[in-house]
Amino acid sequence: MAKGSVQIVVERCKACGFCVEFCPTKALALSSAFNAKGYHPPYLIQPEKCSGCDLCGMYCPDFAIFGYKQQAAKQATTEAKPAAPAPATGEEATDAR
Ligand code: SF4
Ligand code: SF4
Repeated sequence: MAKGSVQIVVERCKACGFCVEFCPTKALALSSAFNAKGYHPPYLIQPEKCSGCDLCGMYCPDFAIFGYKQQAAKQATTEAKPAAPAPATGEEATDAR
């Protein structure tokens, strides 16, 4: 299973290719489809190779792509547990004079 994935904001992309060029695992390629500006946005050609390192996001001059770790998303959901009951304070005994 892939360790990470990307979110692509297709309409912001101007097809400069930086994300494709600098992806260390060569997980990205430029699509043959066009966005509204007439550019070819990237897509995950090998999704299983994406580590979620977000180098693509750091190089993108248009904030059009974001990498994220799958594991981090899983942890965030498991950490959202209901709160434990509050411990007894012992303040009932303050009445003794
Ligand atoms: S997050 Fe990293 S591995 Fe995934 S596509 Fe972007 S640069 Fe490549
Ligand atoms: S770096 Fe950004 S603008 Fe350039 S091709 Fe990739 S997503 Fe598009």
